[in-house]
Parts: sequence; structure tokens; C-alpha cells
Amino acid sequence: MNSSLDSLSYFLQADQIKTDPKECLFYGKDWTSYFDIQAQAVVFPHSTEEIQKLVLWARQHKIGLVPSGGRTGLSSGACATQNEIIVSMERLSHIINFNALDQTLLCQAGVTTERVQEAASKKGFFFPIDFAAKGSSHLGGNVATNAGGLRVLRYGTTRQWVCGLKVVTGRGDLLNLNKGLVKNATGPDLMSHFIGSEGIFGFVTEVEVKLCLPPSSTQILLCALEDLDSLMECYQKFKNNFTLQAFEFFSDNALEKVLQNKNQKSPFSKKYPYYFLIEVESPTKEPQEELLTLFESCLHLSLIKDGLLAENSDQQKLFWSYREQISESLSPYFPYKNDISVRVSQVPAFLKAMEQTLKQSYKDWTVVWFGHLGDGNLHLNILRPHHLSKEEFFQCCRQIDPLVFHTVKQFQGAISAEHGVGLTKKPFLHLSRSPEELHIFRAMKSYYDPDGILNPGKVV
Ligand SMILES: Cc1cc2nc3c(=O)[nH]c(=O)nc-3n(C[C@H](O)[C@H](O)[C@H](O)COP(=O)(O)OP(=O)(O)OC[C@H]3O[C@@H](n4cnc5c(N)ncnc54)[C@H](O)[C@@H]3O)c2cc1C
Repeated sequence: MNSSLDSLSYFLQADQIKTDPKECLFYGKDWTSYFDIQAQAVVFPHSTEEIQKLVLWARQHKIGLVPSGGRTGLSSGACATQNEIIVSMERLSHIINFNALDQTLLCQAGVTTERVQEAASKKGFFFPIDFAAKGSSHLGGNVATNAGGLRVLRYGTTRQWVCGLKVVTGRGDLLNLNKGLVKNATGPDLMSHFIGSEGIFGFVTEVEVKLCLPPSSTQILLCALEDLDSLMECYQKFKNNFTLQAFEFFSDNALEKVLQNKNQKSPFSKKYPYYFLIEVESPTKEPQEELLTLFESCLHLSLIKDGLLAENSDQQKLFWSYREQISESLSPYFPYKNDISVRVSQVPAFLKAMEQTLKQSYKDWTVVWFGHLGDGNLHLNILRPHHLSKEEFFQCCRQIDPLVFHTVKQFQGAISAEHGVGLTKKPFLHLSRSPEELHIFRAMKSYYDPDGILNPGKVV
């Protein structure tokens, strides 16, 4: 250990400091693999107080700190690349309090999303932030990225569910924000500065979330269709008639990879270019007459070419797995991944423009689309062609970024819908944010983190 690291032992125990390069690689990296990881150590604080001491120590020694949650991020936000100290939040893992009357749960930031869901469920409530990485992602990471997920259409993003935050800023100040209040008109909402801030203003150390009653039973329809215009028409029809929990879409090659990965047969007798999965709230467990009627009328109008209504909870899980397992099934192909959003009404035009652009330059590449269509959030994945090495492919991907993001700008969309900016999208942030907005971000950064020690080089 070097001499500055030695002084960490004034406030951390030996088992809370690790300098082994393997540990640094493990804790200093998210799901992306675009950047070389370089860190001097990883530390494991147990409490807000230890994090506060750590920040004051880092200011004194001018050493960068990288907040590391469940490391499921997809924009290299939790990657240590500048010889920083990685701060793993995994030992801040206590569920502190459940308040039945307020319907809130107070947790340390390192509690996983799934544990929050389970704790809510044990008390008869529901925490609706949900996505495939929930078993590993932390609640603090969800706040830092304003995570969305599968049911944003019905419940909104993490932002809607946070009612209190404890934060240690890059100044070393401890802020106890909003304290679980439902109403608070005492000036601008400082809590919102930290939601989606990807660890550049402060460490989220405790989060109080609101809970709601579990949804009534749901019906799940899986439908196949020929074209994107039909997709949007179906979305409008179902949305206007039902309370939708989710409206997810995926292209045929996405389904194909899931089926290959799981060695399963297609649920449809024939291939179609696109599929959508729709989850509808329903007061009874029986199929709703109205749902079937609308489905049949879409079939009759040829908007839907084929479809299946899940008959029981196992089939519901199976249908969801076609959507939820896409990321995992694509990961062996080291895909180029992007997560963008446009207004829902612009989705077909945007997809057509993107497909045309990509075809012009990358004719033979496999482009896989899926996403949370009801939120205008699309995940673009391009699979690595066999003839390119990983490095050659990454180089090519750097050239795809501007093509994608300039098209997003044309449609006034967001270059990141829910995965954040991190390192991967930082060079393109100006395509979604005006110079005036970026000026405010930088001013906030220099206030909250005057020495630039928090997640250096990320976002702005
Ligand atoms: C298979 C898969 C599916 C996914 N699906 C979705 C999806 O549907 N919707 C969605 O929104 N995301 C999705 N994600 C992305 C990811 O899971 C979310 O962004 C998640 O919220 C990240 O949480 P984490 O704890 O893993 O954060 P990390 O990856 O560890 O960190 C993310 C960022 O937050 C910062 N950070 C982490 N913890 C703290 C803290 N306590 N205080 C301050 N800063 C902190 C990090 O420095 C980094 O900048 C998916 C990821 C995978 C791998």
C-alpha cells in the first residue's frame, strides 16, 4: 500500500481495503467492456459516517472515488479508469425500517432491487421498479441512474418512488433530503439533483422509497406482426381501452437468440418481423372478454398476424422470459448496445430512419431491436460479425455512435433513455442537452464536488 492508502486505516478496518488487481477489476467494472480498468484499491464502507470520512480524506489527498453499486450499469458509469479508489456500496446492505402507515421502506443504498421488492411483498406491498438485473443492481444504483425498467408505463421511473435520500456530497457534506415527506414546498427539490446524477455529485447512502398496493391480477398477450405502423396502431388501441402495465416489443432476431440460448421452440408456427408483449391489469384471473374482443378485432384488421394469451402464471413467466432474457442471450456476441428514446409517436419514423442509416454503412450486420415501446425507449443492439475481432468491432462501433446519436437529435430524442451517460455517451451529451443546460450541470458539479474527486471524467 502507498502512504496515502495507509492513512485509510485510521477509519477503515483492514478487511475493508483491498488492493488486489483482481478485486479492483471485479469491483471497478460494470457490464460494459469498452475501457481498461485501472484502480489503486477498492474499499467497503459500512456506513454513511465512513463514507463521509472517506470523501474528506479523498479531498485532502486529491484522489478520485468511483461509487460502485451492483455494477449492472451499461454505460461504464461505475468503471474506474483513472487509478481511482473504487467505493463498493455492497456492505451498506441493511433494510433499516418499514413504516406501515406511510407505506415506505428505508434502506441503505447497497440493498439490491430484488430485496427491496421482496421486503415490500412480505409486508403486503409492492415496489414496482423491475428489470432483468434486479438480483444484482442496488437501490442506490437505481437512484443514481434513475432506473426505469419493465413497468414504467404504469408506475414511472425510480424518481417517482423516492421520498427521502441521505447523500454525502463531494464536499463531504451530509444531506438528509425530504425525509419521507409527501408534500414539501420549501423551495426547489434538492433530492432530484442526485436522482440520475450517476455518482458525480455525491454518494447516495440511504434511500427511503414509497410502496404501493400490489397490482390486481394481470393478463399477458404475446402478438406477432408484420410492420411498425401496425405496432403503433395496436399500442394506441390497447392503451385507450386498458390499464397497461407494460408494452414491450422485440424483433424476430431477438426472439431467435433467446430461443437458441434456452434451447426452446418458438411459441409461433411461423416467423414474423416483430412481436409485442402486453401486460394488462385485470380485476379477475379469467381472460377479460374485452381484451379478447380487441385482440380479435386487431387480427381481423390484419394489424396482428398471430397471438397468444397466457393461460396461467407459468405461461405468463414464459412469455416474459422471451423479453427479459434478450440482453443475456445477446451478451456472448459482445453486442454494440444503445439505449435511446424518442416521443412514442415518433418511434416508427425513427426506427425506419435508423434502419436505413445502418443499412447504408453496415449492410451485412445483424441489428437487433427491442425495448419498452410504451415509453418510446428503444434498445439498439448490433452483433459482432464473426470476421471482426473484438477490438476491430469496438473501433467500428465508435463510428456507429455519431450516426445513431445524430439521428436521435433529429428526432429531438435522448441519447440515453435509462442507462445513463457514464463514459460511453459523454462525448455526445451535447446532442441531447443545450449549451445552457450543460453550463448548469458544470456549475452544479463544481459546487457539489469542488475538487473533482467524485467519479472523475463521467457525464460532464
Ligand atoms: C440484463 C440487464 C438489464 C437491464 N435492464 C434495465 C432496464 O430495464 N431499465 C433500466 O433502467 N436499467 C436497466 N439495466 C441497467 C442497470 O441495471 C441499471 O442502470 C441499474 O439501476 C444500475 O444499478 P447498479 O447498482 O448496478 O449500478 P452500477 O452499475 O454499479 O452504477 C451505475 C452508476 O451509478 C453510480 N452509483 C452506483 N451506486 C451509487 C451510490 N450509492 N451513490 C452514488 N452513485 C452510485 C455509479 O458510479 C455509476 O455511475 C439493465 C442492466 C442489465 C445488465
